[in-house]
Amino acid sequence: MFCPPHGIITITAPNPSLTTLEGTNTYLIGRRPRGEMVVIDPGPDSPIHREVIFHEIRSVGGRVSLILLTHSHPDHAAGALALSKALQVPVCGFPGGAVPLDRELSHGAMVEIEGFSFRCLHTPGHARDHLCFVLSGKGIVLTGDLVLGRGSLALFPPEGDLDLYRTSLSLLLTLDEEWILPGHGPPVPLKRTVEEYLRHRQDRENQIKEALALGCSTVDEVMEWVYRDLDPALYGLARGTVEVHLASLMGRGGVVLEDGRYCHHPG
Ligand SMILES: [Zn+2]
Repeated sequence: MFCPPHGIITITAPNPSLTTLEGTNTYLIGRRPRGEMVVIDPGPDSPIHREVIFHEIRSVGGRVSLILLTHSHPDHAAGALALSKALQVPVCGFPGGAVPLDRELSHGAMVEIEGFSFRCLHTPGHARDHLCFVLSGKGIVLTGDLVLGRGSLALFPPEGDLDLYRTSLSLLLTLDEEWILPGHGPPVPLKRTVEEYLRHRQDRENQIKEALALGCSTVDEVMEWVYRDLDPALYGLARGTVEVHLASLMGRGGVVLEDGRYCHHPG
């Protein structure tokens, strides 16, 4: 059972969808009352969500000193600029994303505020500029969209990269922290969840290889075989996943694309 350490407030943005679950989690972290605070992932550019963030800051009497981004996808970062202007604080994240940064954070960088320190881990795969934040001494990692609180994560080409994604998941397994606070959904245990994610990816890869071995040779044919009885609402997500898996298999030499048709080359 997760018992949140004192000083962490979760605010879920009003942007529920298939990929964002109940909405994006914005985390307010800092010593209470009247301590220094950071905002992790301001969420979408929503005045309603911003009002809730302001209300929470006021209610604990905190002083926000910076905004941290796990990555620059709009559901996490579109509200960064407006929040940064309103609070007069810098936006910090990994370089190369869609949001202008006031401070660039590299892999291994430390961000310190009164009572909390955050170690930055560059964890690409879902997004090139993706960071996780290890809350040192608290047993927690904030994983943005690397790991969600429920279900599995959709990867989309061209930014989604399965090999990088698996490497980033494996990096999480090297940590001693026990809990994940995800960008969407509730807290989940780190080791069990990350192992499930890796197993799920391997199972999916095996199914795709099987489909190719049986003669499926286009993305649509592979999808039809792998995702039988697929809910049409999930079609786009499934297609992205198959494409990202095929790109990974081609990169490792197990699959080739000839005349617009994929074929499996075992061994
Ligand atoms: Zn997201």
